[in-house]
Amino acid sequence: MRIANLSGRLAVITDDDTAVDVEQASNGRFGPDPQGVYEHWMAFRAWAADADLPAGRPFSPTDLGAPAPTPRQVFAVGLNYRAHADESGFGMPDTLPPVFTKYSSSFTGPVTEVRLPDGGHTDWEVELVAVIGEHAYQVSEDDAWRHIAGLTVGQDISERITQLTGPAPQFGLGKSYPGFTPMGPYLVTPDALADSDDLELGCAINGEEVQKGRTRDLLFSVPSLVSRLSAILPLGPGDIIFTGTPAGVGMGRTPQRWLADGDVLVSRIEGIGELRQTFRA
Ligand code: ZN
Repeated sequence: MRIANLSGRLAVITDDDTAVDVEQASNGRFGPDPQGVYEHWMAFRAWAADADLPAGRPFSPTDLGAPAPTPRQVFAVGLNYRAHADESGFGMPDTLPPVFTKYSSSFTGPVTEVRLPDGGHTDWEVELVAVIGEHAYQVSEDDAWRHIAGLTVGQDISERITQLTGPAPQFGLGKSYPGFTPMGPYLVTPDALADSDDLELGCAINGEEVQKGRTRDLLFSVPSLVSRLSAILPLGPGDIIFTGTPAGVGMGRTPQRWLADGDVLVSRIEGIGELRQTFRA
């Protein structure tokens, strides 16, 4: 199943890529709030599995918002692919990768224009994003997929000067300028993917591929992250986890490369879809 945030309302995306409004199709049993659905995730899944949905309506991707637009908690994981840890010049994490946050004021849908911070070094990081369904506290890796509502595409856009300013890195601030966290286009449930543990992801600038990887190469897989995070604190319905980026970011290149006025960044994950950001000075 695929769900979306269409103009701020929860929708099911049908096989022919049209949208069915959930509040209308469920006669009000499920409300219109895209974030609220995760509070009733199992009931929603059961309803959606049996529902005789009406015909959907076509829509524009520019009207899509983030599939989980206002989570209580946002986790972002660093150094979670070996080749990216190498290009970053940091050591390899062994028991726990670095974890930081992206503030939700930076969240947007999948198709946007992003203003480049003045004098900044703005970089790209395509990432698989997991959204929690059922509450998870101290869950085992084997049990972890059961707690995940689904997966979406995310960009962890990062302004490197702010990120690395000061005696300790400012990951949260450098990665949370307005528009720096596009997500979408849909939340895809794990059962709708051929293999939710092995998805190709990548991104391209003006058609030139700059990142390409596979999620089977994550040092800490999605279930491992859920297990390790939930060993420390509870993960609640609708919380999101940015799972880390593969190699190929601008900071790791020689010479380094940053996003510029007019650049178009397209980020994609197999089986989920793509994001499209146009950058403006
Ligand atoms: Zn990242």
